[in-house]
Amino acid sequence: MTATHCPYCALQCAMTVTPAPSPTAVAEVAGREFPTNRGGLCRKGWTSAELLVHPERVTEPLLRTDDGELVAVGWDVALARVAAEIRRAQAEHGKDAVGVFGGGGLTNEKAYLLGKFARVALGTSRIDYNGRFCMSSAAAAANRAFGIDRGLPFPLEDLAAADTVLMLGSNAADTMPPFVQHLAGAREAGGLIVVDPRRSATAALTADGAGLHLQPAPHTDLVLLLGLAHVVLAEGLAHERYLEERTIGLAPVARSVAQWWPERVQAATGVPAPLLRQTAHRLAESARAGSCYILTGRGIEQHADGTDTVTAAINLALLLGLPGSAHGGFGTLTGQGNGQGGREHGQKADQLPGYRKITDPAARAHVARVWGVPEASLPGPGLPAVELLASLGTDDGVRCLLVHGANVAVSAPDAAAVRERLRALDFLVVCDAFLSETAMEADLVLPVLQWAEEEGTMTNLEGRVLRRRGAVQPPPGARSELWIMNRIAALLDAPSRFPEDPREVFEELRAASAGGPADYSGVTYERLDAGEALHWPCPQGSPGTPRLFTDRFAHPDGRARMIPVRAGAPVTASESRPGTFHLATGRLLEHYQSGAQTRRVASLAAAQPEARLAIHPGPAARLGIDDGAWVRVRRAAEARGSSAGLPEVLCRAELATAVRPDTVFLPFHFPGTGSANLLTHASQDPFSGMPEFKTTRVVVEPCGKE
Ligand code: SF4
Repeated sequence: MTATHCPYCALQCAMTVTPAPSPTAVAEVAGREFPTNRGGLCRKGWTSAELLVHPERVTEPLLRTDDGELVAVGWDVALARVAAEIRRAQAEHGKDAVGVFGGGGLTNEKAYLLGKFARVALGTSRIDYNGRFCMSSAAAAANRAFGIDRGLPFPLEDLAAADTVLMLGSNAADTMPPFVQHLAGAREAGGLIVVDPRRSATAALTADGAGLHLQPAPHTDLVLLLGLAHVVLAEGLAHERYLEERTIGLAPVARSVAQWWPERVQAATGVPAPLLRQTAHRLAESARAGSCYILTGRGIEQHADGTDTVTAAINLALLLGLPGSAHGGFGTLTGQGNGQGGREHGQKADQLPGYRKITDPAARAHVARVWGVPEASLPGPGLPAVELLASLGTDDGVRCLLVHGANVAVSAPDAAAVRERLRALDFLVVCDAFLSETAMEADLVLPVLQWAEEEGTMTNLEGRVLRRRGAVQPPPGARSELWIMNRIAALLDAPSRFPEDPREVFEELRAASAGGPADYSGVTYERLDAGEALHWPCPQGSPGTPRLFTDRFAHPDGRARMIPVRAGAPVTASESRPGTFHLATGRLLEHYQSGAQTRRVASLAAAQPEARLAIHPGPAARLGIDDGAWVRVRRAAEARGSSAGLPEVLCRAELATAVRPDTVFLPFHFPGTGSANLLTHASQDPFSGMPEFKTTRVVVEPCGKE
């Protein structure tokens, strides 16, 4: 029996894995006592070992032939081909003609080595990762307000003492069910407040006096937050001493919220003014009593103004004196398994290990020293994910792409266009354990190890570093991404070492991160194996930092920044054209991210086999749409007129009172005609590069398909 953690989300539930007597049988998984999951697992975790012995697993490198077939080849042939394609693309088009796309599920060691591999072995600036689609706007907002970004700057267990928790756009009851245990105190005190246009499973937890559900019109969450800040200031609820001693920027923020009095917010959001006031007073009372937390999730972050929306939430938290207080705080619930660590070690276009800016001369010099290369040889910032994908196959764009731990053909916005771009590449290499929809487009698929077959570390949503441990033997043909990078780097005569041993990589990561915001230099495998709870920053000899901001924020003057933000044009709640809705995309309990893993687990697929469009029974009746009927969902034309020719989805409808009459909801886990990201736009948040996933205007109509 091996102690490790679940392969999926950022809660990183602790579990044990016991190998089956036969190598083809499913290993046994059990929950293990740990502060984040308290022994619990969700159904994704319980079934996670099924993927280790799944019959669809890729166990040999697959190379596409001239006939378009993927055929098995040996590793020598596969790696030689990768090196040759890299050399050819760079000889013809320059270093940046080769790109790397990483993932927020990769271990810290892989995320670190991938950043180094891109910048040193390939010499390209073109690296980014799928975390750009996950919580990049929350990260950007935290960095500018606090000077540092750690999803939860306090241990999750602190929530147990809270009598009020405001959850903004998070459906943790579906996405990370064991998390709900931490809301017990707030629910008992009637203080769970959920802001979500949908009556999600999390919003439903507020029933029976457990709290409040605020259901704003789509994309009015920013206005709602400005309104809450208005009430706090106008009704004397702000924590004045905290604001004076620990923040700067109050006056412009106060001016920016002055126009958002409750009745005006009600008109824009549909949230009744008395409910807005009740919420503000409840938050302020709990904040004064020292037991109030504000948490954000993808619902308010995955907007083209996501950074400003999270900033408005941070401003509210600062007005109440929460960040860094003894029994209160502000945080973001990270999504992907290593969403936190994945963005700290250098696979982001603009960052070097230790969560350092790639444009910072001191950071460049330090990291170049650790890597043993001249600082001048390190490329500058690359392109955020949306722009990187848009450049694929273009004259001056990326011609050869290496994908690790991502399924952009399903998860990226405007997915049909992304698939076209993938097909325009000269050569696409995908490292995956399965033939994901992106791997199906590849010229070469390299089979990799899965979570229970490898050693390494992950960093959970609290910034706590965890050990991932090998529990079962991998299939003979699969290899670690570290091994793959090691071999390709050698074939390219890379001017630095690329260790394949995770422990050795981690030792280098420690040195590279030393002195940076995310300092891991005091974290060792030995300390983690001894059971120490190490949250970064953890310099040499440090016990780690479970709670940030207790004395000062990470800006040089120690103060948090309050930054005024403005709401865009109000979105009308009632639609002028029949059949026109706001589309929100999101997750289901049974599936994870693009579904490449969970769609292959029989019991999860049986429970949720396909994308279904949740639509309110009222508009559904007016449109003649019955429960289970097929519908066509088109991206609405920007101007008046026909939407023919614009992207569309065909799927079944599911009548649900949980969605507002002006909104439809489609999960994003599915490929094919029901793929939600066929409809989303590639518009981006200017600060973070986050696309707009939550409010695409669509037209829904019955399509008569049986
Ligand atoms: Fe795994 Fe997340 Fe479920 Fe826990 S909540 S078992 S980490 S998917």
